Amino acid sequence: MYGTVGYVLAHEMSHCFDENGSQFDKDGRMNDWWTPEDKAKFEARLQKLIDYFDNITVFEGVNVDGKVVSAEATADITGVQAIMGLARTREGFDYDKFFRSYAKSYACYSSYKRDLFILGDDNHPLSYLRTNVVVQQFDEFMETYDVKEGDGMYLAPEDRITIW
Ligand SMILES: [Zn+2]
Repeated sequence: MYGTVGYVLAHEMSHCFDENGSQFDKDGRMNDWWTPEDKAKFEARLQKLIDYFDNITVFEGVNVDGKVVSAEATADITGVQAIMGLARTREGFDYDKFFRSYAKSYACYSSYKRDLFILGDDNHPLSYLRTNVVVQQFDEFMETYDVKEGDGMYLAPEDRITIW
């Protein structure tokens, strides 16, 4: 439930506060309501996300375009972050079950042609990136699966993406 419906709700809600949704105020009017300081912090955090995705090589010579996927990647990461915030209040929360459920929602068969099409035509990251990049942002993932420095899924705390 947390990894499926909960995540989807949190993902969609977080779109209200991504680079597009945040341009609208509480009444739904396009209005720049940010303080310049908050806007600068948000843009710096978003740039870190863009840079991270820009550096992902999917196929030899083919990288993700971080700017294209940034709003959806923000919603993916902040959606799971919202669920993690809730999970941390639940004693005995089953993180393994959560991560498996979340990953299963993006499990799919694909092909070189399909992935190339998505990379050039879709503002969502490829499915495996929606799983791998997102889960590696969280200590709970590292602890649940005993991921250590040097492992393929390891991401150092200072390299993790925090939008909110
Ligand atoms: Zn979305």
